[in-house]
Amino acid sequence: MSLETDSGRRGPEFSVSELRASFPDFPYLVLLKLDAQRRGVAYTPEALSVLDPAVHMTAVRSDYYDKEDLTPVSLVLRDGTTIFTEGFLSETGLKPYVVDLVDGAPHLTDPGPDKDASGPGGGIVPEPVWYWEKPAYYDKLTSSGKPMWQIVSARPQRLTVHPNQFCDFWRNPGEGCKFCVMASTFKKGAKEGRKEERLAVRDIVETVAEALKEPGLCQSFFMTGGSILGGAEPLDDEVDQYVDILRALAPLFSAKKVPSQLIGTAFTARQLERLADSTFLMSYTADLEVLNKDLFPWICPGKSRLIGYEGWKRRLCDAVSVFGRGNVNTGIVGGVELARPRGLASEEEALESTLAEAGRLAEKGVFAVACVWRVLRGSVFQNQRPPSLRYYLKLSAGLDAIRRLNRLPADMDNYRRCGNHGDTDLARI
Ligand code: SF4
Repeated sequence: MSLETDSGRRGPEFSVSELRASFPDFPYLVLLKLDAQRRGVAYTPEALSVLDPAVHMTAVRSDYYDKEDLTPVSLVLRDGTTIFTEGFLSETGLKPYVVDLVDGAPHLTDPGPDKDASGPGGGIVPEPVWYWEKPAYYDKLTSSGKPMWQIVSARPQRLTVHPNQFCDFWRNPGEGCKFCVMASTFKKGAKEGRKEERLAVRDIVETVAEALKEPGLCQSFFMTGGSILGGAEPLDDEVDQYVDILRALAPLFSAKKVPSQLIGTAFTARQLERLADSTFLMSYTADLEVLNKDLFPWICPGKSRLIGYEGWKRRLCDAVSVFGRGNVNTGIVGGVELARPRGLASEEEALESTLAEAGRLAEKGVFAVACVWRVLRGSVFQNQRPPSLRYYLKLSAGLDAIRRLNRLPADMDNYRRCGNHGDTDLARI
């Protein structure tokens, strides 16, 4: 199906300026972030001329994110809002924003299709952006000779470890999640001679120890990785991996519990208790990806086979008993419920059903956070188009309202600790 014939499913493409006028209470910079993630960001040669690899972050762990050009890993707006620009977007028919120099400094500009703007960039008045800066530990080596930037990635104020960069769901044909590029990224690396490799615990400990020497760098610690299905009980091996790392890191901290988040597969109550009782972990996430029981088996076939939609939800609720309200959430790929050909018929229907299910989860203490569906090259869904910007505005505002109604703080996944969710950006207000 071509992009054009799908127009009935997607809502009209209102510009940032039009939506800003219609929804004046919605923060402009969050709106801009959502649109930039949806449409993508390109760089002019002039903008790249001020990128300094000695100062700025131009790569995160190499075999996970295989960049072709030297570009900034991500951007920061003037209020501290981040725009993640990692990954290669498919040709979606949407024009990317362009980072260009204005008065010698990088600015986000919009080449269209917005016609009513007064600024020289076209659709918006050029907005200053900063390239993420590189922490000092990035240029150091572990005692095994590994570059530390390949072991622990840094977001502003968060240390991130991806110990396992393959996902067992991709080992069974047709079981990987359809929006995910983990397998295609890995296969590309394998062609270039890279081997499947898990991070060594010692390398992680040495790198985190080095990072902790930098004041202000670590406000929280975060881990995630591909699912590991094996063990005496399924997923025990994945839990073992995380427990081993967290226990080895514990002597670096003086407190028994440390601001930290793990995005794992949906573990059983026994596995969750093991994590909580034997480590400093304070919060837990297991991504349902799509809040729709009928679409879950199609979009996430492996998760559906192993645990099922209702089973996944039950385990999230069990996690609330273990980690407490406000410390458990589930990530969704906002808009993927509209994917063709089996997705929902309209953005209105998608919003209604997603927010209703998010409300039911929140009543049980589990809050949902959304990422923009960045349609990535190499995913099964690579030829699709994300919903309109209005959909993302409504989704973000709706998820924020549900959290407030249920008195669930978003601190574990907010703009400082994650920065990838327009909805938790709204928790700052
Ligand atoms: S669980 Fe799904 S989204 Fe996560 S890495 Fe595996 S295939 Fe990708």
